[in-house]
Amino acid sequence: MVERQRPPEQDAVERRGNFEAVESNLTKAQVKLEAQRCLQCKNAQCIKGCPVNINIPEFIAALKEDNVEKAGDIIRETSLLPSVCGRVCPQERQCEGKCVLGIKGEPIAIGALERYVGDESSAHNPKIIPSGKKVAVVGSGCAGITAAADLRKAGHEVVVFEALHKLGGVLRYGIPPFRLPRNFLDREINTLKELGVKFKTNVIVGKSITLKQLEEDGFDAIFICSGAGLPKMLGVSGENLNGVYSANEFLTRVNLMQAHEKHTPTPLKVGNKVAVIGGGNVAMDSARTAVRVGAKEVYIVYRRTEAELPARLEEIRHAKEEGIIFKLLHAPIEILGEDGYVKSMKLEVMELGEPDESGRRKPVPTGKIIDMDFDTIIIALGTGPNPIIQKSAHADGIEIQTDRKGYIIVDSETNKTSVPMIFAGGDVAPTGESNAINAMGAGKKAAKAINEMLK
Ligand code: SF4
Ligand code: SF4
Repeated sequence: MVERQRPPEQDAVERRGNFEAVESNLTKAQVKLEAQRCLQCKNAQCIKGCPVNINIPEFIAALKEDNVEKAGDIIRETSLLPSVCGRVCPQERQCEGKCVLGIKGEPIAIGALERYVGDESSAHNPKIIPSGKKVAVVGSGCAGITAAADLRKAGHEVVVFEALHKLGGVLRYGIPPFRLPRNFLDREINTLKELGVKFKTNVIVGKSITLKQLEEDGFDAIFICSGAGLPKMLGVSGENLNGVYSANEFLTRVNLMQAHEKHTPTPLKVGNKVAVIGGGNVAMDSARTAVRVGAKEVYIVYRRTEAELPARLEEIRHAKEEGIIFKLLHAPIEILGEDGYVKSMKLEVMELGEPDESGRRKPVPTGKIIDMDFDTIIIALGTGPNPIIQKSAHADGIEIQTDRKGYIIVDSETNKTSVPMIFAGGDVAPTGESNAINAMGAGKKAAKAINEMLK
């Protein structure tokens, strides 16, 4: 019995000092061995686990025949982002989580195979037959890129508006290059440009241009996928001290602005001891980034135990290998400073109580307090939607319905909002777990509904 093939990884000590990819690709021989393990199920459960329904057995069959170009064509019929998704999808909860081989053994390494195909094959774009319609996409992250591709293939003129100076949304400013090397992201965005999708950077919809103006400019439909860029903070005293960052700001400054490099106009200094508050993938990304920008001791501070950590198991393993220390069952209660800068943090020791509404056991304070010195504190407790678009739309008499947290309310099948020509998806209008592939699924659904509306 052939075992699941694993991609080679960069040595843990070495990678603490660089931003190069942690994992490289499977070799050609490994790809063949892994493809041969696939049972080519008739009723393939893996497809059901993929939010965009890539024909997984078919592309794996092409790999079995050594035909990587054919495998690439099969994947790109559904998704133009195989290099990205093969790296950032939580496969263990999606396609691989449903693979029948996982019941008794190890599932097929679908993500690693998809990544290989994305990197090793070329995109062949279809001929576009113009429809005469125009669609605006607000945001160039996963949902936006996916919707833009499907809308363009249907013949519409598609313009993507991006608030930042570079494209890719959270894929660029949030996910560090050691998880998603930028050359692959750039390459997949270029495929969209070659398809004829137009991109406008440095445009904040709601400020630089309003939804009303887009309507007046002749756009027949608008898809809002501006993400959730408003960080959730702790709400404890000391949070405004210098040296306290939201994970969003910290990662953006390193990933997008290279603020850790010498001679940058806005340098970032983390000092020796860093605490990251939170236990999700963003917390792991922040901690692993802090190590790479020079911190000597980096802690993940999390109020439950390891079993409840929401991050992917692989991210936790990588973080541990890189020397991140897990301070579990501790919750911050106060940040203390000196001369305006972070000095230390008071943490309360927690214990686990009864399960809460999420089914996870609730952390209960024990009353025992400890003090730890830190130079930098990064808060990775999630983000909420930025209300800027809805507010400016409201000022123009366009009422986009939102829930009490500010997320746009959409129909879960069509991603339609309360305004007929406006659709929304991704983190600004969540309909499931917040991740890249679910955002892509929302982009696909919205594009389908827009295409039907514009017929
Ligand atoms: Fe799996 Fe993501 Fe690829 Fe779908 S897109 S097959 S979920 S890795
Ligand atoms: Fe192959 Fe697993 Fe999908 Fe079956 S469920 S087709 S074994 S990847």
